[in-house]
Amino acid sequence: MTRAATYLDHNASAPLRPEAREAMLGALSLTGNPSSIHVHGRALRNAVETGRQQVARLAGAEPRQVVFTSSATEAITQALVAGAKAFSADAVAVSTGEHSAVLKAAEATGLPVWTIGLDAEGRIDLDQLAGVLARAEDEKATLLVAVHWVNNETGVIQPIERVNAIVGPTRHTLFVDAVQAFGKLPLDFAASAPDMMAISGHKIGAPAGIGALLAKAHADTARLIPGGGQEQGRRGGTEPVALIAAFGAAAEVSAYDAEAMVALTGRIEAGLKSMAPGVVIFGQGATRIGNVTNFAVPGLSNATALMALDLMGLSVSSGSACSSGKVGVSHVLAGMGVPKALAEGALRVSFGWNSTTADADAFLAGFETILSRQKQAGKAA
Ligand code: PLP
Repeated sequence: MTRAATYLDHNASAPLRPEAREAMLGALSLTGNPSSIHVHGRALRNAVETGRQQVARLAGAEPRQVVFTSSATEAITQALVAGAKAFSADAVAVSTGEHSAVLKAAEATGLPVWTIGLDAEGRIDLDQLAGVLARAEDEKATLLVAVHWVNNETGVIQPIERVNAIVGPTRHTLFVDAVQAFGKLPLDFAASAPDMMAISGHKIGAPAGIGALLAKAHADTARLIPGGGQEQGRRGGTEPVALIAAFGAAAEVSAYDAEAMVALTGRIEAGLKSMAPGVVIFGQGATRIGNVTNFAVPGLSNATALMALDLMGLSVSSGSACSSGKVGVSHVLAGMGVPKALAEGALRVSFGWNSTTADADAFLAGFETILSRQKQAGKAA
């Protein structure tokens, strides 16, 4: 019997939660279109609105602030590309640690993109943020500021309260990519400063293909797909009821066990330090979310390690894989000033709702084998 591969890549996508599967199957057995007023349509509408309430609750949002989209990438694009136009922005300001979904959307606005750097631990440089706002005052420019809350590669938690305090009282629009914070940190969208936030279903145990833009009433004029008027005109297209039901069910049962996550990553990091004293753990000096560790052992390339780990049935990531499946050098690590040679060894292990100590130990055993092979190869050379 072949051993099932060990999944250590929750930040890429979490395994489907049984509750989400059940809700999805239930909704798939319904017939019709949620916009129809007959009995079939009403049953589907009910499933959509239940999903909206469940997602809103976990996000600390009013249900009417939740606009379902096909992904966080679409929500981000709506916020930035359509938002820049709707709010008459003159420039978009982003941190260099943003997910490519944000960086590409900023580019796609066609506006000047002003960047805010990271410090060596991966935190957004708040002095640079203040500098960007001062420049906007000088130039009388209106900004759309887009920052992330938790970094998908390093797990670094950004000083979002400080960002809110700096940008919130200004006339500029604030968008927060909360994809890696949703379900892990308490979100209070309705009462906090951001005008818009993006969240994603498949990071919390719903299937891929469903996300949401959270938008305050004054900021929900951004329209990417006007279409047939669904989502109160904010996102056209017949609602994918089964995916929305799954998103809602996953949100309903999502209970992030920070202590368990920190125990697993702590186990990995302690194991790595004892077998490879030169290991560098990225963002270690910052406050991190706890379910992810990103590290490199000098001299060990991540392409080699990822392949060897995969052959051993250990699914991890470089943290910066692009959709083509190639391993790239991380722009996040580059933004933190990590030398390219070291960044080329970056590996990301991320845990989630069904991870166990046995998963962490399987990774450590596999990684020890890789290190001893590397040592042997070094001796032979
Ligand atoms: N933003 C962050 C921080 C992410 O980690 C991801 C997914 O990796 C996205 C945006 C994009 O989310 P989606 O896959 O729902 O488009």
